[in-house]
This record gives sequence, structure tokens and C-alpha cells, in this order.
Amino acid sequence: MMLKGKTALVTGSTSGIGLGLACALAQQGARVMLNGFGDVEAARAEVASAGPGGEVDYHGADMSRPEEIEAMVRACEARFGAVDILVNNAGIQHVAPVQDFPAERWDAILAINLSSAFHTTRFALPGMLARGWGRIVNVASVHGLVASSQKSAYVAAKHGLVGLTKAVALETATTGVTVNAICPGWVLTPLVQKQVDARAARDGVDEAEATRRLLGEKQPSMAFTTPEQLGALAVFLCSAAADNVRGQAWGVDGGWLAQ
Ligand code: NAD
Repeated sequence: MMLKGKTALVTGSTSGIGLGLACALAQQGARVMLNGFGDVEAARAEVASAGPGGEVDYHGADMSRPEEIEAMVRACEARFGAVDILVNNAGIQHVAPVQDFPAERWDAILAINLSSAFHTTRFALPGMLARGWGRIVNVASVHGLVASSQKSAYVAAKHGLVGLTKAVALETATTGVTVNAICPGWVLTPLVQKQVDARAARDGVDEAEATRRLLGEKQPSMAFTTPEQLGALAVFLCSAAADNVRGQAWGVDGGWLAQ
């Protein structure tokens, strides 16, 4: 119940990692504002049952639209009185060589995976500073620190998100607000399932073999990182023990970045 009385806004939390992070924060007593598309009611029920208080609300802001992002932050403040913990998690992927990369996909990835975090931060940070406490957790990726081919927009956006994390961590270094990034390797979510399926189709192999090949290329542990493991790290970053953890890009990647 370490986060009792705190409010967390988690973008892209109807699925995958964001849903796992929202559940982990709710388990610690935080009130949670969810965001994202798809099966909202299932996500809401899962997060409500994870938390002892079960206080959960939802805002459907499209994270590519700054005016909707502002409305979401204001709605969270109106509903729960604050945004104490901001988790910038919403993200999309598109895989193609740079010369074939659709310009519209580039713009969408940069908007959703990077610019949205700038907008949520600029709207939520003044309240955190006024209250003297806050946590911003940016869900970047190993691709915030190293590249893979055919992911130019994603790699550019995630490197940008790590840079934004460091810059805002410096600007807030003498305050009670900390800003850090989490850098997962492969996590088996809908976003990655599409890449497993594409690999199976490309190589003419079954899903188990496609998974083995996908992990074997990059992730030495040969095991997916789980949303629960990332949730535990986010809880740590929200704890008093992490008061002086600032501007970090923390890998949870089965050894990917050690190579
Ligand atoms: P996911 O597809 O399961 O979830 C993405 C979430 O973002 C969903 O809730 C979706 O509705 C939401 N979303 C997408 N577009 C949106 C928009 N325009 N506005 C609001 N919400 C939007 O994917 P995931 O794997 O859980 O990814 C979550 C984050 O973790 C992403 O930022 C991703 O880059 C990052 N990440 C994922 C992995 C992985 O292996 N899965 C690894 C490293 C980093």
C-alpha cells in the first residue's frame, strides 16, 4: 500500500505493458486513470480488482493529439485531484526499410511514442512541482539505446524518449519529482505477437520456432520479459528508495544490451 493516496495516469494501459503497470500501481493502493483503445471495460475491471481501493477511471485521449492529451491530464486532476505518477507508455510499431517507410507511419510513431510524452509532461509537471512530489516513468525500450534494422521511426522515437527523460530529470533534479525510463527487451504483448506472426510467415515455421528465432537473435535469456516484472520496477521507481534515481534508462532485457 506504498502508493495509497497517490494518483497514477498510465497512457496506453488497455493492453500489454501499460495494463501490467497500471495493475502493479493499483496493487500498491494508487488510484489509476487508464487510457488507450480496445477493450476498455476488461482493462478497467482488471485494474479495479488488482487494487485494494479499486479506484479506476478512463480517458480515451488519442495520444497523437495534443489537445486531447491536455484534456486527459485535466480530467485526471479533476477526477482524482492530481497526477502524482505519470507513466508514458502508449506506443505503436511499424517495420519497414527506411526507403519504403510510409511517411504517415513515421509521423504517427513520432507523435504517439515520443511527442505524447512531451505533452503529458508539460501538462502534468507543474502540479507535481507545486505539490513537491512526482514520478515520471517513460516506457522506452532497448531501442532507446541501440538500433535494429527496419525500425527507423521506432528507434528514433525511443532514443528521443530517453533523451527527453534525461533532460527533464536534470530540470527537476533538485525537486521531489524524479524522471526515469524503463527499457524492456522483448515482452510478449499484442505489439510483439504481430512480429512473431510475421516471422513465422516469413520463415515458414510454426509459432514456437518463430518465437525461438526472435528471442535467439537479440535476447540471451531466451525468455520474454513480463509486464509483472516491469510493474515491479515501476513500483520501485515510485518508492522512497528511488528518490535519487534520476535520468536513468533501466534495461529489463534478458541481457540484450550486455552484448
Ligand atoms: P500494446 O499494443 O499491447 O499496447 C499499446 C497500448 O497503447 C494499448 O493500450 C493501445 O490502445 C495504446 N495506444 C496505441 N495507440 C494509441 C493512441 N494513439 N492513443 C492512446 N493510446 C494508444 O503494446 P505493448 O507491447 O504493451 O507496448 C507498450 C509500450 O511498451 C510501447 O511504448 C512499446 O514501444 C513499449 N515496449 C514494448 C516492448 C515489447 O516487447 N512489447 C518492448 C519494449 C518497449
